[in-house]
Amino acid sequence: MNRETTIVVIEDDHHIADLLDAYLRNDGFRVLLHGDGTSGLDRIASDQPALAIVDVGLPGAIDGFEVCRRVRQDHPNTAVLMLTARDTEVDRVLGLELGADDYVTKPFSPRELVARVKAILRRMGGPAAEEPAAITRIGPISVDTERREVTVDGAIVPLATREFDLLAHLVDHHGRVLSRRQLLDGAWGDDWIGDERTVDVHVRQLRRKLGDSFNLVTIWGVGYRLDSAEVTAEGSR
Ligand code: CA
Repeated sequence: MNRETTIVVIEDDHHIADLLDAYLRNDGFRVLLHGDGTSGLDRIASDQPALAIVDVGLPGAIDGFEVCRRVRQDHPNTAVLMLTARDTEVDRVLGLELGADDYVTKPFSPRELVARVKAILRRMGGPAAEEPAAITRIGPISVDTERREVTVDGAIVPLATREFDLLAHLVDHHGRVLSRRQLLDGAWGDDWIGDERTVDVHVRQLRRKLGDSFNLVTIWGVGYRLDSAEVTAEGSR
């Protein structure tokens, strides 16, 4: 069995679970279905899947938010895609405490969901692994694209997958104004299906996590620009 193609689905709605199972298997994934948070977390611990698809609303003591939080804490190599029922859950799902890699709001098309799954897995294992070592420093912030590690004044700041991708793209294009659309396409790829509000949610998280040293200027009506007096690049980019 191959952990890179293993997906744990935690969803108590059998209709949705079976649909995901069928579509993901059809695309060559090994799918493990669980109907509650406790057994799902046990499975994630034992099988270390590449991805967990987690419904927010689950029966029993552990809901989807808590599953996400624990996976983030204990299994950094497992990405999390959340299934949400309401838009109001989205901020929390993507937020500081939980930091899911992506979400889809019900009802969703299975095709769209499979596209999201592939995009997440590509981001995790794809380009970053092929790029040469590169560390860029923007003031006190250091971004290591090979180790996917960010430090501020030498202290590691944990970022969700998409937060890191957004920051890396901003750093690559520092000093230039980028529209939300350009950030969506540049950081997450043309195949990313989502609204531009997602950029703002992640920008909020980056500002919160990186603090004052993150000199990102909002250009009203246009987008964002990352400014810094001192920028140095190391490695062979
Ligand atoms: Ca549910």
